[in-house]
Amino acid sequence: MVQRRKSRQIDVGGVKIGGDAPVVVQSMTSTKTHDVEATLSQIRRLAQAGCEIVRVAVPHQEDAQALGEIVKESPIPVIADIHFAPKYAFISMEQGVHCVRINPGNIGKEEVVRDIVQEAKLKGIAMRIGVNSGSLEKELLEKYGYPCAEALAESALRWSERFEAWGFYNFKVSIKGSNVLENVKANTEFAKRTDIPLHIGITEAGMGTKGIIKSSVGIGILLHMGIGDTVRVSLTDDPVVEVETAYEILRALGLRYRGVEIIACPTCGRIEVDLERVVKEVEGKLKGIKAPLKVAVMGCVVNAIGEAKEADIGLACGRGFAWLFKKGRPIKKVDESQMTQELLREIEDMVQRENIYL
Ligand code: SF4
Repeated sequence: MVQRRKSRQIDVGGVKIGGDAPVVVQSMTSTKTHDVEATLSQIRRLAQAGCEIVRVAVPHQEDAQALGEIVKESPIPVIADIHFAPKYAFISMEQGVHCVRINPGNIGKEEVVRDIVQEAKLKGIAMRIGVNSGSLEKELLEKYGYPCAEALAESALRWSERFEAWGFYNFKVSIKGSNVLENVKANTEFAKRTDIPLHIGITEAGMGTKGIIKSSVGIGILLHMGIGDTVRVSLTDDPVVEVETAYEILRALGLRYRGVEIIACPTCGRIEVDLERVVKEVEGKLKGIKAPLKVAVMGCVVNAIGEAKEADIGLACGRGFAWLFKKGRPIKKVDESQMTQELLREIEDMVQRENIYL
């Protein structure tokens, strides 16, 4: 079992981060923020997938001005993502966002950062300090020669100390880079020295399998070390995939369970069905279930039921038929053409009887 680092707890629009709160899943919209309809529609899809906090980019005045309406309609707290232009941080706060993320390194003078922090404090808004290799202070770059893990951790610590010196504590820190091992090192260095909650992730992880693997390894290592109070998987993809990936990482580490886990056999020469098709069909049909449920789809009856003993329910396929089994025991033999429907009917039954919500 993962022993989580003891961090202090903060509040982002009613969502607790750190302390004994579960690791919070977040994502970022990919729409133009000023397109309120498109942004809200994506936020609703993200929330449906289990996203608990959403960040939106605020590169222009019109994006900042649109935030009021977005915050009003969003089912989850909204974070304004600000770079280079402090005035958008102030407009975002006026518009009622729940959190402001800045990279102090690209905001400008320290006094400007202090003014943003003071406004957040006055309005009871949370903040996130972002430290990335691209926005590291010149002085630290000169000291270390390049944006290494030590430099990133030092930058994060310095800014955290300043925030605290200004009497502000409702903030979290993210230290992100695209190099997995440097990222792990920088977060570990920071985590050793403070109890400030950490937002973790690997930036620019990329597309498809490569992006998912890179993120899973980087985030997984940190979480397994007990580090990380909130996560965002950054992918070049529909942000809903980021949320689904985050939950799979958390599930693999035993930290959070959400939705159906499909256990599918790797297939071998004994297989008699097109298992990939069956798995895809079952997976697609069960997407709406939020409760944790283990469903096994196995290629044959020889070892399948024993192999998938820990599943709540499953199918062991044969030539032209399948055994439907529950908790390791066969309960019904069904025709191949009916097996998916039978499985879904049984699950629906379990959902109703055992009060699992869809
Ligand atoms: S369940 Fe059957 S088909 Fe699948 S890997 Fe095991 S023995 Fe092979």
